[in-house]
Amino acid sequence: MKLKVKKLYIPHRIEKNTLFKLKSKFKINKIYWGQKMDHSYLINLLIQHSKELESYIISKRRYFHMHPETAFEENSTATYIEKELQIIGYNTTKAAKTGVIATIPDLKGQKTVALRADIDALNIREETNVDYQSKFKGKMHACGHDAHSAMLLGAAKIIIENKQYLKGPIKLIFQPAEEGGAGAKYLIEEGHLENVNYIFGLHMWHDLPSGVIGTRAGPVFASSDRFLVKIIGKGGHVANPHQTIDPTAVLNDIYVALQKIISREINPFEPVVLALPKFGGSEAHNIIPSETYLQGTLRTLNPDLRDYIRNRISEIVVDYSKAWRCKGSVTFDPLAYPAVVNTADIVEKSLIILQPLNNIQIMDQSMVGEDFAFYLEKVPGVFFTLGNYNEQEGTIYPHHHPQFQVDETVLWKGSALYSILAFYPRWEALTKFNKI
Ligand SMILES: [Zn+2]
Ligand SMILES: [Zn+2]
Repeated sequence: MKLKVKKLYIPHRIEKNTLFKLKSKFKINKIYWGQKMDHSYLINLLIQHSKELESYIISKRRYFHMHPETAFEENSTATYIEKELQIIGYNTTKAAKTGVIATIPDLKGQKTVALRADIDALNIREETNVDYQSKFKGKMHACGHDAHSAMLLGAAKIIIENKQYLKGPIKLIFQPAEEGGAGAKYLIEEGHLENVNYIFGLHMWHDLPSGVIGTRAGPVFASSDRFLVKIIGKGGHVANPHQTIDPTAVLNDIYVALQKIISREINPFEPVVLALPKFGGSEAHNIIPSETYLQGTLRTLNPDLRDYIRNRISEIVVDYSKAWRCKGSVTFDPLAYPAVVNTADIVEKSLIILQPLNNIQIMDQSMVGEDFAFYLEKVPGVFFTLGNYNEQEGTIYPHHHPQFQVDETVLWKGSALYSILAFYPRWEALTKFNKI
């Protein structure tokens, strides 16, 4: 009896009688042979596999979309991913509470590549009319993380099918709690990035037309600090201001003073956002409160500037409060995200390697935050975006909108991108990149 092989890839030219022997042993539907095992051949092979897996990727994405779970509660999502990876042939382990790390058994080599997808959803009530809507009320995959998880599962299949071409171990990271929970930070603290040489991540992207791949060298997404200013004075009746120390008056001065850091101390060519949209104090028109507060956000693409402005905020709050007999303090959220800073030479090489995927662009910088930044502080790598804006498919709503939708026709491209980058040490070894 002949064994069934749907497709046979023969990378190098072989003797005719060797092929005859193969044909007598196996029932082969299609042979790809006579092609040289060069780099473009392998890349095109990975792309072809991704296209063939399109319906698998879409079905997984729809499953995740129907079962959204938020930060550190992604228990059933993680179990589902883990089971799927084990079926595909990976060793798996749980990480950062509700994350999954997968590796290919017995893979040796000097350089390890990590590929990351985030798996968490948002506390948003879905308002789309797709027939695979969220089954969990008030929870929704409205950022595209369902697509990221599905694309990396697709890549998991492709990578393992072509593992003989890998130059080293692979680590697939299905990360929990990207949306404000700093899941990446916890994964790093657990040691999962030790011995990783390169890391790559991908995000569906509203600001690019569908199918366009975007990235850029250096800072691409901003650091995102949340902070709380507290001013303590002495409360009392408004009729007797001399018996009180009014922290409201001080709060107003500080609100204005902090904006002067941006307008008077920062190079106007540096993008910085300092917003102070939340504040409070007295509950009544005739009571001086004993305490007021101000909550703000600081975003910048420059890590040195970030440190400078954080220090200046603290100085101004503490010293200005003191000048008016109050006690001022600032608390920065310890889980704040740094800026996403892509490794320039890996960006440069990746842009060439990924050319067969077409439509690759240097993207604009953005002031949104992304906890992939923590990985890039530890390990060289690149964060990519995959355009999702498509009027024909109706994917016109931005991330975190209750009508946000993913353009499923481009998901194969994400799996292809992940798969190609899994082989990065192979491409990096090349000296003449323009030969690809
Ligand atoms: Zn998001
Ligand atoms: Zn996101």
